[in-house]
Amino acid sequence: MSDDWFVRRSVDRQTTLLTEPYVDSYFSANIWLVRGSEVDLVVDTGMGLRPLRPVLDLTPGKPVLALATHIHLDHVGGLAEFGHRLGPRQSAEAFATMPDALTFADEYREIAEPVSRLPSPGWVPADYRLMPAPLTRILDEGDVIDLGDRSFRVLELPGHSPDGIGLFDEKNGVFFGGDAIYDEELLDDIPGSDNAAYRRTMERLKTLPIRIGHGGHGPSFDAKRMREIIDDYLAK
Ligand SMILES: [Zn+2]
Repeated sequence: MSDDWFVRRSVDRQTTLLTEPYVDSYFSANIWLVRGSEVDLVVDTGMGLRPLRPVLDLTPGKPVLALATHIHLDHVGGLAEFGHRLGPRQSAEAFATMPDALTFADEYREIAEPVSRLPSPGWVPADYRLMPAPLTRILDEGDVIDLGDRSFRVLELPGHSPDGIGLFDEKNGVFFGGDAIYDEELLDDIPGSDNAAYRRTMERLKTLPIRIGHGGHGPSFDAKRMREIIDDYLAK
């Protein structure tokens, strides 16, 4: 099914990127679909302004895991649409209630122009709510997410948020960084951010042998670019 709310781009044979171009750019995050041989994985689920699952062209009967890299609103909006919901231990309990204090959904309700096009007729920002999405699997450092022909290891990457996690497919050098690292301005001054933790996360990522990194926002990056992003951050 197609839906003109999302823009969809094939990144490689197994990876698709979806974005929400009509959402205010500050809140417009990347949604990644990785098709494994046995299991599919959705990394972050956007704002939840329109149904995500129907546009993914999922294979009927094939298991799909939906994972949140952290509980900020722009990464968890579609999580409730999925039966298998994975997220970080640090904020695990909160996925059942999606509190404004952690998701910042209240901020989105108050910005001047949250969308440049209405997601549905008559939609008003005051209506914006995140659907509760209690986790069915809580993730810790070192946990493995197995898709059949490839697997990802969970990395705890606090700093931007206390609960940030990333995923690393060591065999293929593919890294999903969430909001811990991406190729746009990084946010380390929002409630819950921790600069000291962020610096430790950056030091750790320096040694991660990636071929390509896919962030929570912005374009993907190679190892050289990741190193530049890290060095820029640490030089602040
Ligand atoms: Zn975030």
